[in-house]
Amino acid sequence: MQHRDGKVLVLNLDYQPINICGTRRAVKLLYLGKAEIIEGRQTYLNSPSGSIQYPSVIKLSYLIYRPHPEVKLSRKSVLARDGYRCQYCGRTNVKMTIDHIVPRNKGGGFKWENLVCACHACNAKKGDRTPQDAGMKLISQPKRPSYIPYISYAIVDRGMGEEDWRKYLPQKMYG
Ligand SMILES: [Zn+2]
Repeated sequence: MQHRDGKVLVLNLDYQPINICGTRRAVKLLYLGKAEIIEGRQTYLNSPSGSIQYPSVIKLSYLIYRPHPEVKLSRKSVLARDGYRCQYCGRTNVKMTIDHIVPRNKGGGFKWENLVCACHACNAKKGDRTPQDAGMKLISQPKRPSYIPYISYAIVDRGMGEEDWRKYLPQKMYG
Protein backbone atom coordinates (compact mmCIF):
# COMPACT_ATOMS: atom_id res chain seq x y z
CA MET A 1 0.00 0.00 0.00
CA GLN A 2 2.41 2.61 -1.22
CA HIS A 3 -0.11 5.45 -1.06
CA ARG A 4 -1.24 4.91 2.50
CA ASP A 5 1.18 7.59 3.73
CA GLY A 6 1.10 9.66 0.57
CA LYS A 7 0.23 13.32 0.37
CA VAL A 8 -3.04 14.69 -0.89
CA LEU A 9 -3.68 18.15 -2.28
CA VAL A 10 -6.76 19.74 -0.71
CA LEU A 11 -8.75 22.25 -2.74
CA ASN A 12 -11.26 24.70 -1.37
CA LEU A 13 -14.82 24.59 -2.70
CA ASP A 14 -13.75 27.15 -5.33
CA TYR A 15 -10.82 24.94 -6.45
CA GLN A 16 -8.19 27.11 -4.79
CA PRO A 17 -5.43 24.94 -3.31
CA ILE A 18 -5.46 25.43 0.45
CA ASN A 19 -3.64 22.57 2.06
CA ILE A 20 -1.73 19.33 1.78
CA CYS A 21 -2.75 16.52 4.05
CA GLY A 22 -2.01 12.87 4.55
CA THR A 23 -3.95 10.13 2.79
CA ARG A 24 -5.53 8.98 6.04
CA ARG A 25 -7.03 12.41 6.73
CA ALA A 26 -8.19 12.77 3.14
CA VAL A 27 -9.91 9.39 3.17
CA LYS A 28 -11.66 10.37 6.38
CA LEU A 29 -12.94 13.61 4.81
CA LEU A 30 -14.20 11.63 1.81
CA TYR A 31 -15.83 9.05 4.04
CA LEU A 32 -17.58 11.76 6.06
CA GLY A 33 -18.83 13.40 2.89
CA LYS A 34 -16.86 16.55 3.62
CA ALA A 35 -14.88 16.29 0.42
CA GLU A 36 -15.03 14.71 -3.00
CA ILE A 37 -12.27 13.05 -4.93
CA ILE A 38 -10.97 15.03 -7.89
CA GLU A 39 -7.91 13.02 -8.86
CA GLY A 40 -7.38 9.48 -7.73
CA ARG A 41 -4.45 7.13 -7.70
CA GLN A 42 -4.25 3.66 -9.16
CA THR A 43 -4.59 1.98 -5.80
CA TYR A 44 -7.67 1.11 -3.82
CA LEU A 45 -8.31 0.68 -0.15
CA ASN A 46 -10.67 -2.03 0.99
CA SER A 47 -13.04 -0.93 3.70
CA PRO A 48 -16.16 -2.48 5.21
CA SER A 49 -18.31 -0.27 2.97
CA GLY A 50 -16.52 -1.19 -0.22
CA SER A 51 -13.33 -0.22 -1.91
CA ILE A 52 -12.18 3.38 -1.85
CA GLN A 53 -9.80 4.84 -4.38
CA TYR A 54 -6.74 6.43 -2.86
CA PRO A 55 -7.00 10.17 -3.47
CA SER A 56 -4.36 12.47 -4.94
CA VAL A 57 -6.48 15.63 -5.06
CA ILE A 58 -9.68 16.25 -3.12
CA LYS A 59 -12.07 19.19 -3.04
CA LEU A 60 -13.88 20.25 0.10
CA SER A 61 -17.66 20.37 -0.07
CA TYR A 62 -17.73 23.62 1.88
CA LEU A 63 -15.90 26.90 1.52
CA ILE A 64 -13.11 27.75 3.92
CA TYR A 65 -12.68 31.46 4.19
CA ARG A 66 -9.03 32.34 4.27
CA PRO A 67 -8.19 36.02 4.16
CA HIS A 68 -5.07 36.80 2.20
CA PRO A 69 -2.58 38.42 4.53
CA GLU A 70 -0.13 40.92 3.15
CA VAL A 71 2.80 39.04 1.69
CA LYS A 72 5.91 39.53 3.79
CA LEU A 73 9.02 40.53 1.92
CA SER A 74 11.72 37.90 2.22
CA ARG A 75 14.15 36.11 -0.04
CA LYS A 76 11.77 33.17 -0.13
CA SER A 77 8.72 35.24 -1.04
CA VAL A 78 10.64 36.98 -3.85
CA LEU A 79 11.57 33.56 -5.25
CA ALA A 80 7.96 32.41 -4.96
CA ARG A 81 6.62 35.60 -6.57
CA ASP A 82 8.93 35.02 -9.55
CA GLY A 83 8.00 31.37 -9.73
CA TYR A 84 11.62 30.26 -9.16
CA ARG A 85 12.34 31.50 -12.68
CA CYS A 86 15.43 33.56 -13.47
CA GLN A 87 14.12 36.99 -14.40
CA TYR A 88 17.00 37.54 -16.84
CA CYS A 89 17.34 34.32 -18.85
CA GLY A 90 14.05 32.63 -17.99
CA ARG A 91 15.54 29.36 -16.80
CA THR A 92 13.75 27.49 -14.02
CA ASN A 93 15.69 24.29 -13.57
CA VAL A 94 18.79 25.66 -11.86
CA LYS A 95 19.62 26.97 -8.40
CA MET A 96 18.36 30.48 -7.85
CA THR A 97 19.56 33.43 -5.89
CA ILE A 98 18.28 36.94 -5.23
CA ASP A 99 19.48 39.79 -7.39
CA HIS A 100 19.37 43.44 -6.36
CA ILE A 101 18.43 45.10 -9.67
CA VAL A 102 20.13 48.32 -8.62
CA PRO A 103 23.08 47.05 -6.58
CA ARG A 104 23.19 47.86 -2.87
CA ASN A 105 26.32 49.96 -3.27
CA LYS A 106 24.52 52.06 -5.86
CA GLY A 107 21.62 52.75 -3.53
CA GLY A 108 19.33 49.87 -4.45
CA GLY A 109 17.28 48.76 -1.48
CA PHE A 110 15.82 45.51 -0.20
CA LYS A 111 12.33 46.08 -1.56
CA TRP A 112 9.92 44.27 -3.85
CA GLU A 113 10.60 46.55 -6.80
CA ASN A 114 14.37 46.07 -6.58
CA LEU A 115 14.62 42.33 -6.01
CA VAL A 116 14.28 39.50 -8.48
CA CYS A 117 14.96 35.82 -8.71
CA ALA A 118 18.10 35.19 -10.78
CA CYS A 119 20.18 32.15 -11.62
CA HIS A 120 23.78 32.12 -10.45
CA ALA A 121 25.11 32.53 -13.99
CA CYS A 122 23.07 35.68 -14.66
CA ASN A 123 23.81 37.01 -11.20
CA ALA A 124 27.55 36.58 -11.79
CA LYS A 125 27.37 38.03 -15.29
CA LYS A 126 25.52 41.10 -14.05
CA GLY A 127 27.87 41.57 -11.13
CA ASP A 128 27.79 44.93 -9.45
CA ARG A 129 26.03 46.69 -12.30
CA THR A 130 22.55 47.80 -13.16
CA PRO A 131 20.80 45.79 -15.90
CA GLN A 132 21.35 48.66 -18.33
CA ASP A 133 25.08 48.78 -17.61
CA ALA A 134 25.31 45.01 -17.94
CA GLY A 135 23.24 44.96 -21.13
CA MET A 136 20.67 42.67 -19.56
CA LYS A 137 16.89 42.85 -19.68
CA LEU A 138 14.34 41.84 -17.09
CA ILE A 139 11.58 39.49 -18.23
CA SER A 140 9.02 41.44 -16.23
CA GLN A 141 8.95 44.48 -13.99
CA PRO A 142 8.96 43.30 -10.37
CA LYS A 143 6.33 44.60 -7.99
CA ARG A 144 4.73 43.85 -4.68
CA PRO A 145 2.52 40.77 -5.09
CA SER A 146 -1.01 40.92 -3.77
CA TYR A 147 -1.11 37.27 -2.87
CA ILE A 148 1.07 34.19 -3.04
CA PRO A 149 -0.68 31.00 -2.02
CA TYR A 150 1.31 29.83 0.98
CA ILE A 151 0.94 26.33 -0.30
CA SER A 152 3.32 27.07 -3.16
CA TYR A 153 6.13 27.66 -0.68
CA ALA A 154 5.58 24.26 0.85
CA ILE A 155 5.55 22.44 -2.44
CA VAL A 156 8.53 24.19 -3.97
CA ASP A 157 10.57 24.12 -0.77
CA ARG A 158 10.10 20.47 -0.09
CA GLY A 159 10.20 19.37 -3.69
CA MET A 160 6.74 17.95 -3.16
CA GLY A 161 3.89 17.66 -5.54
CA GLU A 162 2.45 15.08 -7.85
CA GLU A 163 2.09 15.38 -11.59
CA ASP A 164 -1.69 15.51 -11.37
CA TRP A 165 -1.54 18.43 -8.88
CA ARG A 166 -0.19 20.80 -11.47
CA LYS A 167 -3.39 22.00 -13.02
CA TYR A 168 -4.72 23.01 -9.60
CA LEU A 169 -1.67 25.04 -8.60
CA PRO A 170 -0.63 28.51 -9.76
CA GLN A 171 1.00 28.06 -13.15
CA LYS A 172 3.77 30.44 -12.21
CA MET A 173 5.26 27.87 -9.89
CA TYR A 174 6.07 25.63 -12.78
CA GLY A 175 6.96 28.30 -15.30
ZN1 LIG B 1 19.59 33.41 -15.60
